[in-house]
Amino acid sequence: MKLELELLRTADDRAAAYLSQVGKRRVFPSSESLADLVAFEETLPESGHDPFEGLALLDEKGSPATVATNDPRYFGFVIGAALPAAAAAERLMLAWDQSASLSLGSPVAAKVEKVAANWILEILDLPRESAVGFGTSATACTLACIATARRSILERQSWNVDEDGLIGAPEVEVVISETAHITVKKALRILGFGMKRVHTVPVDSYGRLDATSLPTLNDRTILCLQAGEVNTGEFDPFEEIIPIAQAAGAWVHVDGAFGLWARASNRSHLTEGIQHADSWTTDGHKWLNTPYDCAMAICRNANALAGAMNSDAVYSTASPDAQKNLTLEFSRRARGIPVWAALRSLGRSGVAEMVERHCALAERIAAGLKEAGYTVLNRVVLNQVVACASNDDETKRIVKAAQESGETWFGATVWQGKAAFRISVSSWRTTQLYADQLIALLRSLQQTSQIVP
Ligand SMILES: *Cc1c(COP(=O)(O)O)cnc(C)c1O
Repeated sequence: MKLELELLRTADDRAAAYLSQVGKRRVFPSSESLADLVAFEETLPESGHDPFEGLALLDEKGSPATVATNDPRYFGFVIGAALPAAAAAERLMLAWDQSASLSLGSPVAAKVEKVAANWILEILDLPRESAVGFGTSATACTLACIATARRSILERQSWNVDEDGLIGAPEVEVVISETAHITVKKALRILGFGMKRVHTVPVDSYGRLDATSLPTLNDRTILCLQAGEVNTGEFDPFEEIIPIAQAAGAWVHVDGAFGLWARASNRSHLTEGIQHADSWTTDGHKWLNTPYDCAMAICRNANALAGAMNSDAVYSTASPDAQKNLTLEFSRRARGIPVWAALRSLGRSGVAEMVERHCALAERIAAGLKEAGYTVLNRVVLNQVVACASNDDETKRIVKAAQESGETWFGATVWQGKAAFRISVSSWRTTQLYADQLIALLRSLQQTSQIVP
């Protein structure tokens, strides 16, 4: 016991030392740190090694080779950092080591995840009767929602997919937008919807599904919409499209991996009409700033999700709202607990403040970049900025230089055929100071190119 506690304390000390360097360490590791990873290339040990020594190796060679996504200067993807309250709850959960499948496995997890589910429906203002499954990722949760959609549609056609499978089943059509996230396509692919058979609708100049190009929908259609396009942060026109889909009897699923959180802020108008969809996916590990991996599958018809995800066995039966009956996982960690901790520590106003601050900083960065001579390619409606320099080569050079500087990190993308970069503001740590530092860095990189043509 003494050794166990000492080891865990050592890990906590090392973790604290790591976090104390946040804001100071390189945002992307140096080439030396990357080369040092060779230290891990050991053969599988025949006999056990000292765990203190293993922890030291992990910290000394591992910590310098991390990407500092917990750093306020990290603007890549839409990653978010980990809120202290959520990270601390995770730490305690690790000590509990609960298998949070059903309340028999963890009464506390069942209770807290139930509360977290209700809070999620409240803060995102979604139908209160919905089921919330806390899964590993938006990918997994989208898969769960689309499987539920198909099963429900087939059920309405008097086809029992659980018993009779898909061969000979009535055809279910899928409609997505041209800018649907790759993981929505992945979920569709895994579920056996061939990509050639999926109807892809073009987008308007902002990257939103173009309602005028929508095909005729019917009661065997799954329509996938998007809240927060991954480059631009744009929202599909829900108010226009969802009533049409509903009148046709289609199932509407919304991928709101990060964008759904606009609903918890003064930008909620962007999501107007979204509450009329049938299912939604969102992440905890992106904009809510919980640790990985944490996401939510939300389904208006609670029994439909519970039916599709049911994993009751003779030795393990549970109520339809047990998490193992709402997610792909059977044995699972209580991913709803960090969500509960994040929401409890921020409150409604804290979540709104964070989301609104990120959106305001994105506007500030866009203005600063324009002033520095960059072209901003999106209208900044949320926390995303897509920009480019004078030409593709110049854009690529600047992205590389910024990434190698260790002072920041953001990624490259292609937007409407142009090389571009995306800046995402999504860390609770990021404030105006860091936004201004980013603008200054990008200005200096731009100037370097003007001096040396
Ligand atoms: C990140 C993202 C996803 C995938 O989420 P994961 O949790 O990484 O699986 C899906 N859609 C959008 C719009 C995203 O930004």
